[in-house]
Amino acid sequence: MPVRHNDPNGGSIVHKGSKGINTGCGKDTTKFPSHWENTTAAITCNKDGCKN
Ligand SMILES: [Zn+2]
Repeated sequence: MPVRHNDPNGGSIVHKGSKGINTGCGKDTTKFPSHWENTTAAITCNKDGCKN
């Protein structure tokens, strides 16, 4: 399931992964739990690990 990162400073990006684990590109979703939400939206992150 994709997970959306609502970054107060950087907009909204959808990564591979889900809340509670690292995203495909290695971001830690547990650091700022309020910034992350599980979603069914298409992945928009273009970093390795999320893109493929
Ligand atoms: Zn990513």
